[in-house]
Amino acid sequence: MLIRIKGAISNCYLLLGERPVLVDTGAPGDLKRILAGLKAHGLAPADLALILLTHGHSNHAGCAAELQRRSGVHVALHVGDAELARTGHNGVLAPQDILGRVLRPFVDEPFEPFEPGLLFRDGFSLEPYGVKGRVLATPGHTAGSASVVLASGEAIIGDVLRGSFVWPNKSRPHWFCRDPESNTRSIVRLAREGLLRCHPGVFGSFPGTELGQYLRTDTGEVMALSGEPV
Ligand SMILES: [Zn+2]
Repeated sequence: MLIRIKGAISNCYLLLGERPVLVDTGAPGDLKRILAGLKAHGLAPADLALILLTHGHSNHAGCAAELQRRSGVHVALHVGDAELARTGHNGVLAPQDILGRVLRPFVDEPFEPFEPGLLFRDGFSLEPYGVKGRVLATPGHTAGSASVVLASGEAIIGDVLRGSFVWPNKSRPHWFCRDPESNTRSIVRLAREGLLRCHPGVFGSFPGTELGQYLRTDTGEVMALSGEPV
């Protein structure tokens, strides 16, 4: 089962498998919200099998240091974002539109640095942590962005795309992207997974078909269907 825990500006997710796994840790200041979200399911940080970050931005890694201390479990992060965790900074936040430029000063805050207890690359399995799923490298938004693909057909995709503030079940490009071409290849990769539902880092979830929709409307259907290597 997948539970959304809403932070101030982004989502965390609680995966209730044989053992619980927390995906993302909100922004600095979201600790109370996360603890309340765990408590609502009878859990404390020490009950977690793993804490996993979709990437190393402050609104996803904001409480990672504190939760790593409180839980005593590893915080897992793709090796490509290890430097962000170690420095407690977002690195380059490249706005993709006017709203991104407006938002940047408000979201580009530092967070408590930490050493990730577990650095992974691609295809990291969550089975040893009691969750049927794996973690795919989906770089672009950051160098070390990753997505959790569950056996249920759901995926937690971090900031590969965002949800819509206005429309339920719709996706939108995220306001920030380090490497748009790489991000598009990551969307192609996720589209090929045939996902039922995507759970983004910002706003609400949308059906997996939105990935193909995004590729058609913004970068052309050819890339999605041509078998281009990802
Ligand atoms: Zn981000």
